[in-house]
Amino acid sequence: MSSNIPTDPALERFNSIPDFGAFKPENAGPLLKRLIQAQDQALLALEASSAPSWAGVVQPLTELAEPLSYAWGVVHHLLSVKDTEALREVVQALQPEVVAAGLRLAQSQTLYHAYRELKSGSGWNVLDEAQRRVVDAAILSAEHSGIALEGAERTRFNEIEAELARLGTLFGNHALDATKAFSLILTDKEQVLGLPETVLAMMAQSARSVAESEPALANATPDSGPWRLTLDAPILIPFLKHAKSRELREKLYRAYVTQASAGELDNQPVILDILKLKREKAALLGYNTYAALSLSRKMAKEIGAVQKMLDDLRKTARPVAEEEYAELLRFVATQNAEANPELKLWDIGYWAERQREQTLDFTDEQLRPFFPLPRVLEGLFGVAERLFGVRIIAADGEAPVWEPSVRFFRVVDRAGEAVASFFLDPYTRPAEKRQGAWMNTCLDRKLLADGSVRLPVAYLICNQSPPVGETPSLMTFSEVETLFHEFGHGLQHMLTRVDYVDAAGINNIEWDAVELPSQFMENWCYHRPTLLTFARHFESGEPLPQHLFDKLLSARNYRAGSQFLRQVHLGSLDLALHSSFDPAGEQSIQTLAEAVAQENTILPPLAEDRFLCTFGHIFAGGYAAGYYSYKWAEVLAADAFTAFTDAGLDNPEKLAEVGSRFRETVLALGGGKEPGAVFRMFRGRDPDPKALLQSYGLSPASP
Ligand code: ZN
Repeated sequence: MSSNIPTDPALERFNSIPDFGAFKPENAGPLLKRLIQAQDQALLALEASSAPSWAGVVQPLTELAEPLSYAWGVVHHLLSVKDTEALREVVQALQPEVVAAGLRLAQSQTLYHAYRELKSGSGWNVLDEAQRRVVDAAILSAEHSGIALEGAERTRFNEIEAELARLGTLFGNHALDATKAFSLILTDKEQVLGLPETVLAMMAQSARSVAESEPALANATPDSGPWRLTLDAPILIPFLKHAKSRELREKLYRAYVTQASAGELDNQPVILDILKLKREKAALLGYNTYAALSLSRKMAKEIGAVQKMLDDLRKTARPVAEEEYAELLRFVATQNAEANPELKLWDIGYWAERQREQTLDFTDEQLRPFFPLPRVLEGLFGVAERLFGVRIIAADGEAPVWEPSVRFFRVVDRAGEAVASFFLDPYTRPAEKRQGAWMNTCLDRKLLADGSVRLPVAYLICNQSPPVGETPSLMTFSEVETLFHEFGHGLQHMLTRVDYVDAAGINNIEWDAVELPSQFMENWCYHRPTLLTFARHFESGEPLPQHLFDKLLSARNYRAGSQFLRQVHLGSLDLALHSSFDPAGEQSIQTLAEAVAQENTILPPLAEDRFLCTFGHIFAGGYAAGYYSYKWAEVLAADAFTAFTDAGLDNPEKLAEVGSRFRETVLALGGGKEPGAVFRMFRGRDPDPKALLQSYGLSPASP
């Protein structure tokens, strides 16, 4: 190790939580370079000494890859929650080298052959099921990394991988920058009519946040403005639902669906390049399409199986969605027919919300005061304790954080023994944090050389409204569901009992099964005794009234056909782009998108709609030819939840018994067992799609 290269506690505490406070972007470059070098040397040493056994090749390979993946993981995490120019530069400069170093591991012929020998030799018999799945996945993964390619094909393959990584990052940066680039300063009260108080407060706060460059905004207030309208989701979504100004809704909607589709931030050429390269990559590996390549490592396996599920769901959802649209038109006609002769896309959200208010007689905003973040957390942690026997204890200050509002928690079992810990970064920070919500792994569970266990650590990231003044963060019900969702991922990461990094927690779980625990957790938001443990007014302490809860339940199924169809649309579009669509062919992406939309939408998108330009799931995330996974896993999740309803949701002992079985199967076994088999261990049978349709009120309940 050369002494003139700085060390960095943020990037090198390989078995502990990173020291975020000590992170310096200028250190990251030289450090990553050193780690790449060290990994290369360790690889050479392993190639010279490997033997076809777990201890002879699998374990040492895991070990040697950890330091770089740890440091790169921290850098990537910070890029998504604490983006700076300096950090972006590091990532852009180092990404190709990191990708190349990863490929050298994945494409080591020597190690690949050692794995193949392990699988076919006597060493295979002594491996347990989880170890075998790790080896099998590694072999397939190596084959997908181009291990069998030689000469020019290998060179081309590596070029494609580096280019895809670069384009994915570029896509994400364009999308974030496009979101940041749009804002309108509203000064006339007429322009914000209809908006709830919380949104006005957020828009005034947003105005004040840019006062440095526009001093006139320094004294913005919720009541008298100025208000800053942005594409940041906590402002965008309620604005489209509530703003009376049709003109501004249209302006905002058009800005929203055309984000990152022109000028310097245009993602259209990026998308085309990504699709071309993915198709070329699939062909090099012997697959007809990228979808075929993607599905070969998923639970669904075949394009036909996915197509069938989407078709089945569409058959049920489309007629319901058509009826819902007809109902909306009838509703609008009773309201203000002359003023709204025709329903446009920017009217749907607004009128659907008015219709919802009338039929369900409550608004998202009315519910917010019942969901202050601190109480919601208590309730969520209570669920974890009652069902899974773990306690969650606030431990702020025990771990360094990247932002003062980030919380830290420890997870302990009933006996008080430490199980895991996690960070929670709850609030939106549009200037430096990616949108959306996610769970990511900070540390994986692992058996260390001294026989002790490194406990898992998770990042839970949300983007809800920050506290305003003395008022805590008041959550919409959907933000509550999102928190439960991400916590479900976190539980699977944190409650794993698998000691092999490569199969611990969410590692090595097929994509289309990985949303099972997260979607499962959302169901608890609709369980009244559970919800009432935390749904209390933040000032008066009054519990959520029964009539509001009843309405929440009806709201779940409100326009369910339309919402279902939307997911089927996105899943179909993703699948088509990665299977039937030929990026080198005559048909344009836009033509394909329009054809898919025709099948899956009631009101056609605008001609200039370029929603794909911000569809980060499939272009900057891991969901390419995998977006259907949400619905696939929802089938599993809804059916798993019925195990609890069958046991009786109001019976604490039964709940704990079923909960414990869920913990020991779905949450504990990680990627160490085929997901279909894990499901059968929990449920005693194969998943039944009926539960999902019924949970949305989309099919007649069985007698
Ligand atoms: Zn999820």
